[in-house]
Amino acid sequence: MTKKRKKFYVTTSIAYTNASPHLGFSLEAIQADVIARYRRSLKEDVFFLTGTDEHGQKVVKAAKEDKKSPKEFCDKISAEFKKLKGILNLSNDDFIRTSDKKRHWPSVKKVWLELKRRGDIYKKKYKGLYCSGCEAFITRKDLKNGKCIVHHQKPEVIEEENYFFRLSKYSKIIERIIRNEKIKIIPQVRKNEMLNFTKRGLEDISFSRPRKDLKWGVPVPEDNNQTIYVWADALINYLSALSYSKNSRKFKKYWPADVHCIGKDIQKFHCLIWPGILLSLKLPLPKTIFIHGFITVAGQKMSKSLGNVIDPFELVKKYGTDPVRYFLLREIPPTEDGDFTYEKFEARYNSDLAKGLGNLIARVMKLAEKSKVKSRSVPYGESQATTKLQFKIQKSIDKTQRDYRKALEEFKFNEALISVWELIGFCDRYIEKERPWEDKSQKSKVKNQKVISDLLFALNEIARLLQPFLPETSEKIIKQLKTNKSRILFPRL
Ligand SMILES: [Zn+2]
Repeated sequence: MTKKRKKFYVTTSIAYTNASPHLGFSLEAIQADVIARYRRSLKEDVFFLTGTDEHGQKVVKAAKEDKKSPKEFCDKISAEFKKLKGILNLSNDDFIRTSDKKRHWPSVKKVWLELKRRGDIYKKKYKGLYCSGCEAFITRKDLKNGKCIVHHQKPEVIEEENYFFRLSKYSKIIERIIRNEKIKIIPQVRKNEMLNFTKRGLEDISFSRPRKDLKWGVPVPEDNNQTIYVWADALINYLSALSYSKNSRKFKKYWPADVHCIGKDIQKFHCLIWPGILLSLKLPLPKTIFIHGFITVAGQKMSKSLGNVIDPFELVKKYGTDPVRYFLLREIPPTEDGDFTYEKFEARYNSDLAKGLGNLIARVMKLAEKSKVKSRSVPYGESQATTKLQFKIQKSIDKTQRDYRKALEEFKFNEALISVWELIGFCDRYIEKERPWEDKSQKSKVKNQKVISDLLFALNEIARLLQPFLPETSEKIIKQLKTNKSRILFPRL
């Protein structure tokens, strides 16, 4: 009997379609892609979801500026996000759009009615502070000097009658869930931030807006005068993509999510409101919420007005897919803010890819070609390492694998790459020490062949470890090992 494969469900947040894709979302998509590819390499049954969040006031405004209807505008922007799959080599299995009336809307309405049936949706007149950047009512706790912490703008005072979700009812349980890591929030500092919110008690939140003020969205079931507010619509994508229902095979197989990858600006919605909805629905909770930081450009926030927005399409066009993936995964700390500059990008490219990895492969392949050593397809274990040298290289590979796995289990993408580059460094030193091109006698010729064979074996390992990070490069290395032909992987910039 074959063992049942473990399932693994990983998501990005859905990108908001008020503007074209930027580097920040590219980072998130690539991080999720590495997780998905790594899990597949462990033979797990992976479902990797991404998509676009298309409703809301900001989209309507952006569409107007572009002289398009919201629908036309979203079709255009969503298509750009879909194109990221090709240019960033993403392996997502699905792409959900919240404007999809066939796939997404029925789940949103279903969830709404279930929350209502459980007594967790009620209508009330409300006067509050509304941040148009957040597209949400915010409280005094979210302000600094009277301005929204995220958007640095003054909220407006709005009075209207909306539907509310009884989040307060779940406040205590959510606190326990976060504290006991029933939902693991990574990194720890974000977990603590969320606990600070729950300690003060969570308040009920608005789940709808009057339809006259927000037409572009899912109408509230049984009340056409109200539109479901963006988050009560957007968060449901994680369920709707699995065609949420008790009878859906996909839903039964993949829910709950194993990892939601998100940015720090939307952590409150994912760590506090989302568990509240799921608790009300009596559904299992996501296991991990992984939160990345922001990318700055030369130390400044990326923004249209500063004119420093980095376009992922242009970056890939100039340098190629894998170098962009490499930079974002290696240079940007996975859970903190990181900085982009062209100087930093090119320095990484030259030192790590062209000189480090590219150089090692070119050297080893040339040696193999000259001495006619074929790469070994069957890996050998420590017991087969007969010479001291082989034992050393095997030990180095084993250590790399251990460090790499540990780093990936903790979402430390940069550290996983550092461990691979340590192996690359080891191979460089091995070549320098053994000098397998010097053959003075028949005996040294045999020894040289063994050294080169070891190196080919190590290259094969390096290629395998790089697969989740640099899929195209990994494939090219394996091809070179098979054909024994050397080609330049990364030309110097
Ligand atoms: Zn705001």
